[in-house]
Formats: sequence, structure tokens, C-alpha cells
Amino acid sequence: MSSVASTKLAVNLRIAVVQLNPQIGQVKQTIARTWELLNKFKQNSKPPDIVVFPEFALTGYNFHSRDQILPYCTVANVGPSYDLACKVSQTFQCYTVIGYPEKTMEDDRLYNAAAVVDPKGQLVFNYRKSFLYETDEEWGCNENPRGFQTFPLTFKNNARDANGNLQEVTLKTSIGICMDLSPYKFKAPFHDCEFATYNLDQATELIICPMAWLHSISAIAGNDNENDVRLALHTIERSCEREHVPLDGSRGQFELNVSENATIRLSRSDEGNRMAYAELDKPDMSNVNYWLLRFLPFLFLQERKEWSPQALSKVIPDGRLPRNSYIGATRSGHWAFKNRSAVLAIANRCGIEEAKTVFAGSSGIYKFNGKECEGHDAMDSTNNSVELRGNLGKGHEGILCRDVQFQVVR
Ligand code: GLN
Repeated sequence: MSSVASTKLAVNLRIAVVQLNPQIGQVKQTIARTWELLNKFKQNSKPPDIVVFPEFALTGYNFHSRDQILPYCTVANVGPSYDLACKVSQTFQCYTVIGYPEKTMEDDRLYNAAAVVDPKGQLVFNYRKSFLYETDEEWGCNENPRGFQTFPLTFKNNARDANGNLQEVTLKTSIGICMDLSPYKFKAPFHDCEFATYNLDQATELIICPMAWLHSISAIAGNDNENDVRLALHTIERSCEREHVPLDGSRGQFELNVSENATIRLSRSDEGNRMAYAELDKPDMSNVNYWLLRFLPFLFLQERKEWSPQALSKVIPDGRLPRNSYIGATRSGHWAFKNRSAVLAIANRCGIEEAKTVFAGSSGIYKFNGKECEGHDAMDSTNNSVELRGNLGKGHEGILCRDVQFQVVR
């Protein structure tokens, strides 16, 4: 067997994430606003390589029964969500990822899915949510029987070799839909970080997350304490009055964030302000920090160096658990991600459904750089091993677009 020397490629990817407030029963209106927003974007930015839409981007999220959601369900390559993705892909000559409710042709099963459409408008992958939220279970959603998955995405002119020659590059890609980032059924041990661990073990390079993630002010699904719910409804109503938005949230007041130099707010969290649905043009840093905490295996942590191989071999007993690492550490090394890089694109929806489910917006683009930054290893957005390339605010529809540079070895 001849050994082939590995080459380093410098990749530049222009990623756009679209934040929408889709209301149930208003697919046409949502599509119309999406094009208004995309047309503004087109005039202000070079075409992106990939556009990411939220979970259930056009349909709205809080469905309560199979009958209610059925009229919105389609097979992967038919219907309004797929049509929109095709047009977006053709407009920008890019990949498009869009969350939509899927009904299979063979057995009428329902899934919470995300379609991936290539620049020619062909469906190249369809991912189904693996970990379900309570709301998904209400309408009879099925779990992805395959669990988390990776797939290849080829970008034609996005990489350069050591001599500066343009090369095509195929990135190992995965999709996580919202609850996929959480502990399974909120019951698995928090530190298992199932989705992040899967991606670390698989050496995924591009991680795409269409989401309908809730703001903590929401009257949470499954909370049957009437007083809590009444208080939450009241707080949401007051917040909307104060922010001058209707009870279903802001629509059509677009935030276009395509400037490379936009300021990036780093903060440990808005703890004091955690419950507030205010400053809709600013990201909800408590959620941003929480998402990054769920990617702990990708963050540099000084203390990993102190974890003993014996202790690690207990949590990673080869061949018995579906993981090769624990919070980023393997049996053979402190940090499997050291000197690697990965890009994370989160497209979260915004707005409010049923005056009680408030979505957190704050869509963002991140680069995990694999650097050991001694002394800067807090488990949040201040950790120097994650670069916050930009975030949208929590409350308005908009588009965030960034060029992300990273290196891959081939
Ligand atoms: N964990 C997520 C949340 O609390 C789940 C929501 C979802 O899957 N849409 O918002």
C-alpha cells in the first residue's frame, strides 16, 4: 500500500442564515416576506455558498394533532418548502437547507425533517430529527430511525491548496434539528452531549442547525402549573406592548447583518435579564451560551488535561457505548478536537405562537478553531476556542451572512 501525503486546504465558505417568524396557516405570507428579505439581501451581499432556514421554516411550529399538521406535510421533494429551497438555490447558485414537516409516501409516517437542495435544485439529502421535543410528539412525529447522520457536501470553488490553486472541496456535514442539541428527552446525562459527541467522533466539518428554539419567557409545553402559565402569558403580553410588537411577534421589520465588521457582543450571559423579552435587535446571550455549552466537546477546557485515562476508560469502554470520546477527551488524548476546525450555523426562528411560545431568534455563525487558549476556557461564548462570527437579534426576521475561513486536511 502506498502512503499518500495529506494536503492542507484553506476553505472559505460564505454562509447565510435566515431568521423567520412563520405563523401557522400563513405559508403564503411567509413566503412573500421571505422573498422580500432575500431580495434585499441580494442587493447587499455577494451570493452565499449555503443558505440555512429554520426548523418548520414556512409552516409554523406548535401543531397539536396529526390532523392539524397533515395539510402541511409533504414528501421531501414536493411542496412549498422544497419549491422555495429550489428557487433560493437557483437564485444564488448555492445549497439550501430548509426545515419542513414530512409525510412519507410508503407508510404515511410523519417526521420533522430538513431538506438539502443543491445549486441545480436537486434534493441531495433529507435529514429527520432524531431527538423529539414534546410538541413534536403531540402530532405523532417519528424519531429518525437512523439517528444522527453525516453526508458529503461538495463546494466547487471554495478551497485553495498550498500553491494558491482553487480546488473543489467535499465537507463532511451534519444536521441537528433543535432538540437534537438537547439531552435525549431531557433525561440523558447532560455531559453526554450526544449530538456534539457524535460530530466530534465523526470529524464533522460543517454542522447545520435549523431550529425553533424557545426563549425562556415562554409558557413551556408540558407545564401544567396554571399559575406559572398565567404569569408567563401576562409577562409575554407586557413585553410585546413594551417592544411595540403584536402578540405573535415581529414580522417584516428585517435585520440585514451582512457586514463583516458588525460588532460581536461577548458576554458570559444575561443572567439578571434572562427572563426578559426585550432589546429584540440583540441576541439572547443566555441561549447563545447554552448552545455553546451543548458543544462543550468542541471547546478548549484546561481541566481535561487532569482527567485520568483510567477514569476515561470507564466512561468510554470501547465497543459498548456509541461514542469514542467523553466531553471531547478520548482514551488516547486530552482533546480530540485540538488543531481541527468546524463551522456551526444556527438558523433559529423568532416570533411568538399562541401568545405563549416565544422563540429565541439569535441565529448565529460560529467557528470552533481547535486552539488551546490557556486561561480562556470558560464554558461559554468567551472561550477563545470558539469564534462568534455574528448573531442576529432575538426578535426580528432577518439574514446573517458571513465568510468563514478554516482549514481541512485531505
Ligand atoms: N430544547 C429545545 C427548546 O427548549 C427544543 C425545541 C425544539 O425542538 N423545537 O427550545
